[in-house]
Amino acid sequence: MNKKKFNKGLLDFLDASPTPFHATQNMASVLENTGFVRLLEENKWKLKEGGKYYVTRNDSSLIAFTYPKSSDYMMLGCHTDSPNLKLKPHPIIKEHGVVKFAVQPYGGLLLNPWFDRDLSLAGKVSYLNAKNEIKETLIDVRKSIAIIPSLAIHLDKQANTERSVNKQTHISPILSTNDDFNFEDFIRTQLAQNKIKDVKELYASELSLYDTQKASYVGLNDDFIASARLDNLLSCYVGLVALCAVEADVPMLLIASDHEEVGSRSSVGAGGSFLENTLTRMYPDYDAYMQMIRTSIMISADNAHAIHPNYADKHDKDHSPYINKGTVIKVNANQKYASSTTGISKFMHVAKSVGEPYQHFVTRSDMGCGSTIGPITATRLGLETLDIGLPTYAMHSIRELAGADDAHSLYKILLGWRDK
Ligand code: ZN
Repeated sequence: MNKKKFNKGLLDFLDASPTPFHATQNMASVLENTGFVRLLEENKWKLKEGGKYYVTRNDSSLIAFTYPKSSDYMMLGCHTDSPNLKLKPHPIIKEHGVVKFAVQPYGGLLLNPWFDRDLSLAGKVSYLNAKNEIKETLIDVRKSIAIIPSLAIHLDKQANTERSVNKQTHISPILSTNDDFNFEDFIRTQLAQNKIKDVKELYASELSLYDTQKASYVGLNDDFIASARLDNLLSCYVGLVALCAVEADVPMLLIASDHEEVGSRSSVGAGGSFLENTLTRMYPDYDAYMQMIRTSIMISADNAHAIHPNYADKHDKDHSPYINKGTVIKVNANQKYASSTTGISKFMHVAKSVGEPYQHFVTRSDMGCGSTIGPITATRLGLETLDIGLPTYAMHSIRELAGADDAHSLYKILLGWRDK
């Protein structure tokens, strides 16, 4: 797939995936259109050699894999979630002449960029239908229905030097001046638009605010891609497109996990049992399972901090990736990243063979280092693991920025993996 078509698909995927639920649903539909067969965890599995399969958990994490004779898998790990504002169970506050959403931050989000953005709402809703069955469905309002207005500078002269954001009191998005607003009616209207009308009662929901501004190219020569959720839907998309491009006799697996931004410790996060459970069912014989584990590699793809041109002192000057200069290999002596000599060498070898660039990243030694799903997976399963990522600015902002060349470059490296 050429870069133009690849990036067009990326922008569409970003816009269509405001929550991990939507990202998972969109990945599943691409997989089904490419011949992958859906497995359900609660059913008996009858895997056929040469088949292609996928399975989801909580509708927010997904594993897809080919099932060939050989078992030396190239696994690609990524995450479906991004920092955002989620509605609280009692989501409506009415005060000071407006109706507001009560929200709680999910993950380590950069709060300032959430002000003065046109926000919409999406996620999962459960309800009781006319037959007394509990059903779940996804909704996406799409329209801009809310906004968090900034406090004017006249009311806070220190706004540009000292303003901090209180997560409880400052970030409630306002959605109406009409005091009669009823949240249940609003959700019922959304369900009706999805042709769901037999709603006796609404139960729980998991709804997130998101920016309605579409993903787009930015830059004189379309150098950048600006969007929400580049961390880490960018990697999900690269892995998805690569998996769909390989033949069924190539052992490849994609795992896209929820809850990375809050530490991965959940039944659907990378610290949970989803991957181990799936691999065990693929290889029920323990000896065959261990052979697969020790001949496979997990490439954990999460975004990497590109050197910020206005804050260059925040980076190690000799290990600072540039935008559009290739995939970043992440190294940390204290195992915040799982990359070892073996995995790094293999990646360098494949990248060189297909003529694609790569870069190295190390955090400044006097600063803390973030972590990701790589070390968690390595610890749980004993897989050789490599942490990589695509260079990004403004990570965890409501609008992040990546290069227009890097994702396609990583895609070519993943496709080259089998031939080297
Ligand atoms: Zn991430």
